[in-house]
Amino acid sequence: MAKKYCYLFTEGNASMRELLGGKGANLAEMTNIGLPVPQGFTITTEACTQYYDDGRKINDEIMSEIMKNVEIMENINGKKFGDLNNPLLVSVRSGARASMPGMMDTILNLGLNDEVVSAMIAGNPDPKFERFVYDSYRRFIQMFSDVVMEVGKKYFEQLIDKMKEEKGVKFDVELTAADLKELAKQFKAEYKKQLGEDFPSDPKVQLYEAIRAVFRSWDNPRANVYRRDNDIPYSWGTAVNVMPMVFGNLNENSGTGVAFTRDPATGEKKLMGEFLTNAQGEDVVAGVRTPMPIAQMAEKFPEAYKQFVEVCDLLEKHYHDMQDMEFTVENGKLYMLQCRNGKRTAQAALKIACDLVDEGMKTPAEAVLMIDPRNLDTLLHPQFDAKALKKAVPIGKGLGASPGAACGQIVFNAADAEAWKAKGKKVVLVRLETSPEDITGMKAAQGILTVRGGMTSHAAVVARGMGTCCVSGCGDIVMDEENKRFTLAGKEYHEGDYISIDGSTGNIYDGIIDTVDATIGGDFGRIMGWADQFRKLQVRTNADTPRDAKKARELGAEGIGLCRTEHMFFDPERIAAFREMICADTKEERETALAKIMPYQQQDFEALFEAMEGNPVTIRFLDPPLHEFVPTEDEEIELLAKAQGKSVETIKGIIQGLHESNPMMGHRGCRLTVTYPEIAVMQTKAVIRAALAVTAKHPDWKLVPEIMIPLIGETKEFEFVKKIVVATADEEIKKANACLKYEVGTMIEIPRAALTADEIAKEAEFFCFGTNDLTQMTFGFSRDDAGKFLPSYYDTKIFENDPFAKLDQVGVGKLMEMAVKLGRSVRPEMQCGICGEHGGDPTSVEFCHKIGLTYVSCSPFRVPIARLAAAQAAIRSKGE
Ligand code: ADP
Ligand code: MG
Ligand code: MG
Repeated sequence: MAKKYCYLFTEGNASMRELLGGKGANLAEMTNIGLPVPQGFTITTEACTQYYDDGRKINDEIMSEIMKNVEIMENINGKKFGDLNNPLLVSVRSGARASMPGMMDTILNLGLNDEVVSAMIAGNPDPKFERFVYDSYRRFIQMFSDVVMEVGKKYFEQLIDKMKEEKGVKFDVELTAADLKELAKQFKAEYKKQLGEDFPSDPKVQLYEAIRAVFRSWDNPRANVYRRDNDIPYSWGTAVNVMPMVFGNLNENSGTGVAFTRDPATGEKKLMGEFLTNAQGEDVVAGVRTPMPIAQMAEKFPEAYKQFVEVCDLLEKHYHDMQDMEFTVENGKLYMLQCRNGKRTAQAALKIACDLVDEGMKTPAEAVLMIDPRNLDTLLHPQFDAKALKKAVPIGKGLGASPGAACGQIVFNAADAEAWKAKGKKVVLVRLETSPEDITGMKAAQGILTVRGGMTSHAAVVARGMGTCCVSGCGDIVMDEENKRFTLAGKEYHEGDYISIDGSTGNIYDGIIDTVDATIGGDFGRIMGWADQFRKLQVRTNADTPRDAKKARELGAEGIGLCRTEHMFFDPERIAAFREMICADTKEERETALAKIMPYQQQDFEALFEAMEGNPVTIRFLDPPLHEFVPTEDEEIELLAKAQGKSVETIKGIIQGLHESNPMMGHRGCRLTVTYPEIAVMQTKAVIRAALAVTAKHPDWKLVPEIMIPLIGETKEFEFVKKIVVATADEEIKKANACLKYEVGTMIEIPRAALTADEIAKEAEFFCFGTNDLTQMTFGFSRDDAGKFLPSYYDTKIFENDPFAKLDQVGVGKLMEMAVKLGRSVRPEMQCGICGEHGGDPTSVEFCHKIGLTYVSCSPFRVPIARLAAAQAAIRSKGE
């Protein structure tokens, strides 16, 4: 049977979101449970992927099915496209599987043309009705031109602004029917001027173009950025919803709004939302007028409000989650236009999940699954120091639209935000209002401050989604975007001035306010507690300093998976000795230099063992090429020469000699030990002595240091190094007359090591995947240079993600899976971990769970993310 590309709302349901998109599936579900939804149909995501497969064309088969459904829709609603007595006007709305608010396009009031407009007006003598018709018409021309023909909103906005100025009014609603009629005329002329053709009057042509535009919008730049940030595959496509219009801009007895069943910023259980009378959908979100709180709707439309409150309750109980709803009131009657599980801040997500468990709507496992691990990041960021905050006097207040603390230098547009961020500056983006084009700039900013717009404005919704602090709707700001300045509380602020904003209270402060580190408590602690019960993976941390190790412990790390010993050498006191070692001519000279470093290393290791309180600690031996340690400045070279008793020329010669064409594939890792075994001897002594010392202090800790050899590619290489380590370690232990267990294992970061893992496992006691190098070596591109060309790979869709940020499960993952299997075929109980950047990436963590790793190791602030991701992986795989 041929594929079905269109579903009436009565034919779908909530479980069909892959096919119908989230919006379409939920419109169908609301229809099924008897809510007032204007009846239309959904064109499937498969039609969208077919459109792309067909070279961006809607093929005849799909088009004829669409037209058949238009006819059914006309019959259901008793209205017809282009009909002069009873015209059908529709909205054409995008809706992907995962919600992507504001990323794609929607067109309202489609079906209007000059004849329909005249006929509508002729049929209703009320002058207010005439105004409404022209308001709808000019909106349609504007949206169609912008979205479908990509003319650019600004031309039309300029025309509106000009008209308002001429008429001496401030708001769109103050424009009269005649003004709007004139605007519609101007808009059409503008359309013709920009495109060289007349505005299409045939509703079916309008519809065809609109559907194509929505399909096309799947591939617009902001949608592509959003998808990459949110792990949404390009291959999914978007569905298109076509449904009859209901008119919130009909008269004063009409309006439109957006609401949440719980506070999306804090999670508090109370109806939250915003409402505008005599307005059409996008007005609330676009921040054109500042809307009124939903409670006031009760006074305006008591009947519709009462019904709406019931709908909210029903929907929450139906979906077992906080709902985000869009609705319209036409002539006092309520219509539901959208519902979805609402986006929320991390803080709200935790509270709602816990509350839903307490209310009996979710199990702890379901609650754990509700939290997006990536969002936890924001909770781990610093908050304003309460004491500093108490002393500070706000210079203004807006709405606390997305919590968090942000301080930085003021910038006035998205491009500047990006440019300043690239220069390493922290910025706060201050705008009249934001629009979808601003997304990359919003991402670059510490926080966002807007003059207009409510809690559901674009800025607020997107900021919450990104976990970025946002204060919206501070109407006291007198903005002059063009000249990059604004006035607030009597002071003029310019680009580069410092301000601080508090996304919880909405307060705005002059200058910088001190911040403090976040902690895990309350709802956060509760969720993490549940997560720990479910997960199978251990979570360790990558830490080189006691401070990082302590932080990681606080955040729940169960050990150190990677201590990079070389980071300890950069300390000014030590680097001299290390350079001495590098410049030494003989083994004896090298050993003398190393002897100077050893006490420092031992101290460092002791501190790490102490911080980890007996939990496992993996110490990786020296990894980078030696040239990374030598001085580059003449002054420093001279100093080094003096200290070494060598000539500057000699030192320069040595430095030159360290130069390599491909340092990443050069003399580094275990290769250094093969050349200079004394380095491994020193490091082994430091580890063992530290372990003995700490064990003496804490006999109950059962410390088993794990010594990890980097960059192994051949089992004989490993045997060579291991022999040195074991001989040194055993001698140390014997000398101390003590008993200490230790392990010697290897990183798996060279493809050859993965391929020969069974050989290597005969000698190596554990594996740890260094997926940064393994990715680099598997793809054969340098991680230091990939940043230059990867953007072209995203643009051409060869890659959807940075393989250094998100594990390539197909290739690199295959090597990992193979290495685990081969390794454990020789050493069944073998511990296998991962310590690359990927250890803190949720989808990569899920993969690690699947291939049976023992632990993931990540930077301290990612530990909670990894704990949660590991729990979700375990819960999901159990469910499968
Ligand atoms: P987004 O996904 O960006 O929220 P939507 O498709 O939900 O875009 O459309 C934006 C707004 O347009 C909606 O919130 C709603 O207010 C309005 N809208 C959409 N369809 C209709 C309709 N059939 N009748 C009235 N208003 C509509
Ligand atoms: Mg919407
Ligand atoms: Mg490495």
